[in-house]
Amino acid sequence: MLRQVRLFGDPVLRTPADPVRDFDLELRNLIRDLEETMQEKSGVGLAAPQIGVSLRVFTFHCGDEEGEHGHLINPVLDLSGDAEEDDEGCLSLPGLQFPTPRAPRAIAKGLNMHGEPIMIEGTELLARCVQHETDHLDGILFIDRMDKKQRKLAMKAVREAEWYGDPIPEIKVSPHSVQRIS
Ligand SMILES: [Zn+2]
Repeated sequence: MLRQVRLFGDPVLRTPADPVRDFDLELRNLIRDLEETMQEKSGVGLAAPQIGVSLRVFTFHCGDEEGEHGHLINPVLDLSGDAEEDDEGCLSLPGLQFPTPRAPRAIAKGLNMHGEPIMIEGTELLARCVQHETDHLDGILFIDRMDKKQRKLAMKAVREAEWYGDPIPEIKVSPHSVQRIS
């Protein structure tokens, strides 16, 4: 099912997401919705908070020609290399791209929809993508990663964007019981 992508200004994008604990049908449906919505918007990645679900899961479709694609749950990143700037965009800030520094290499460990451990090893676009999507799970947006001067330019462009200030949809509350770790 296609889901509405939440836009900058929606508080769900600033809320740290909860770890996934139930590897059930609802989770598989969520991942399918993320994949369908990401494809429809031609995105290279989409995190659950971007469709209003505050859980630690994202889908991605980027990398070399064939395109690496998949999903990752409860990711933990191991980054290396000196940060490199490249243009980056976000479906929650549609139509805008800004140079954003990211580590050039990333190893992302997490789980798949069956609760099995998986690992994504990426450089360049894939490394950038897993950093961008994992940031979403912590309530961090790519504009937060820019230096002060670039962020100022980006915020000006955001305020001038035609979608800025649109009404914010209600947050979907997960029916899962959420156990917080201390
Ligand atoms: Zn994004």
